[in-house]
Amino acid sequence: MKTISFSPGPAPKSETAREECMLAEIDFEGTGMPASEIPHRHKRVEKMLADTRELMRELLDIPASHTPLLLEGGATGHFTALPQQLRSRSGDGPVKVGYVDGGYWSGRALAECKKIDPFRCVPHVLASSVEDDYKNIPSIIHAQQKAIDARMDYLFFNANETTNGTQVPDDVMISLGAGSYPYPIVDTTSELFSRPIDVSKFGAIVASAQKNFGNQGLTAVIVKNDLIVPCPAGVSATFDYRRSLGKLGGPPNTFSVPTLVSIYAMLKWIKDEGGVEEMEKRARIRAGLLYNILDKSGLFEGIASPAHRSLMNVIFRLRDPSRHAAFAEACEAAGIVSINGHRELNELYGEHFRISIYNGIPIEHVEYLVDTMAEFERRS
Ligand code: PMP
Repeated sequence: MKTISFSPGPAPKSETAREECMLAEIDFEGTGMPASEIPHRHKRVEKMLADTRELMRELLDIPASHTPLLLEGGATGHFTALPQQLRSRSGDGPVKVGYVDGGYWSGRALAECKKIDPFRCVPHVLASSVEDDYKNIPSIIHAQQKAIDARMDYLFFNANETTNGTQVPDDVMISLGAGSYPYPIVDTTSELFSRPIDVSKFGAIVASAQKNFGNQGLTAVIVKNDLIVPCPAGVSATFDYRRSLGKLGGPPNTFSVPTLVSIYAMLKWIKDEGGVEEMEKRARIRAGLLYNILDKSGLFEGIASPAHRSLMNVIFRLRDPSRHAAFAEACEAAGIVSINGHRELNELYGEHFRISIYNGIPIEHVEYLVDTMAEFERRS
């Protein structure tokens, strides 16, 4: 029986990208070496890095004012590295960052920022949906106005809350004012390359690759070039953006060749399939199938507020919690895996399920799950 995974991350890649990664492990581009054993200074690896960054530029339409970097450390590492390498509007003094507390991962980003020396960076919470159990994302536009009024330097928010199953709607992303202080910074870990984004508006965009465009290990950090300041003492060279921008001489640094292969393979696949717009179309189909059955069901219920439902992570529970285990067993018997909700949210939502439907997930896998749900409901 085939295993159908809806893992929240590391997540399934497309079949094509997976095959390319496997072949690269046997012989990376005719070098006679597996990708995991090849030095990152090999000229073919350097070319792959340049090509990958070019693909990022092309797929996301990244303007010359911004540079896409691929760095180690996971998105979590950049929650502290990023605010410390951004210019404040006065050019010195602590950087003031307004946070939108919209769910689990915004909370994690905020908690990381609080670890930074307050002489360098001061976080402020501008809006929160805690009162609503994070079933929606607070108004980003309203938070932005507050950030303007308070003369903040940056506004940090999360575009897709992986664990809460919520996402900032397209119209909000489009009407976000930007291009000057307070520059928006966005964590797009669970959505980059799944819908278009106007990069020019942002001071920085962060996304670890492990969901929509590769294996775990590397993180995309797209920075507005003129906002980056020298890496302060106490921050590892691994996170030195100017070094990676090539401003300190030498080539841009990246160390994880196998992860780079997976990103290169996924981005080529996304381009061949029709780009980010096509990914968005498929995301709407996958999510539509799931929300449709949830809305009609007397057995299952969606958790996120309909206006802020995520196209990437669909969370739901059984109306009768005593049926949770039986449905989990039915899925296991059908070969469906990695659908448990995030442990730390059980207190908030009760035991629940989370179906992660990133770029690599074929629509047929979602149809199979929906059939399994319908069958379970029929038998109940
Ligand atoms: N942000 C979001 C929205 C996430 O979903 C995750 C991982 N699940 C992270 C950040 C952390 O990413 P990493 O594991 O690369 O540190």
